[in-house]
Amino acid sequence: PLPLPLQVCFIGRSNVGKSSLIRALFSLAPEVEVRVSKTPGHTKKMNFFKVGKYFTLVDMPGYGYRAPQDFVEMVEAYLQERHNLKRTFLLVDGVVGLQKTDNIAVEMLEEFGIPYVMVLTKIDRASRGVLLKNVLEIQEFVKENTQGCFPQLFLVSSVEFSGVHLLRCFVAHVTGNLPTVEAS
Ligand code: GDP
Repeated sequence: PLPLPLQVCFIGRSNVGKSSLIRALFSLAPEVEVRVSKTPGHTKKMNFFKVGKYFTLVDMPGYGYRAPQDFVEMVEAYLQERHNLKRTFLLVDGVVGLQKTDNIAVEMLEEFGIPYVMVLTKIDRASRGVLLKNVLEIQEFVKENTQGCFPQLFLVSSVEFSGVHLLRCFVAHVTGNLPTVEAS
């Protein structure tokens, strides 16, 4: 049988900067052919970005204010079927930090034992003080309350492209697309 295409999934509150980040990730890789397909019957809710034969990035509906009512059911259903899901990226707004609604996603990921990574977005908009406070709060939260969260937080700006290259490398790594270097 053909191997299943590997997937990574991006989730976050509405307006967290998810579409901008996905655009930024791909605009830096113009050589990669990206095909967007939508879930049948769920237009505007789940997008699949197929990156050549390498992997598929799954863009989940945003949660929180103005979120689709069925966010929880849809994401839950997807996460439960996750045979080929290599890593989930949970986006947190760098200006406002971790919000109560982010717990919906954290609890779901923890409950299903899904390995995930937190990404702090819009860092160009946060002052250094605010950014530091939010980073420390998240680090503390991850340490005290999570099992499946990668301890390294990724800081990105889709406007200034900071952190985007590192995130691309990490996505390439978790999807097995970085060739291993032989130890000499
Ligand atoms: P989504 O709802 O999570 O897909 O969020 P969008 O990508 O549509 O972004 C929401 C708003 O935040 C838009 O007005 C974006 O222009 C803005 N935004 C997104 N990313 C950044 C960023 O890195 N820096 C700044 N300054 N604004 C951003």
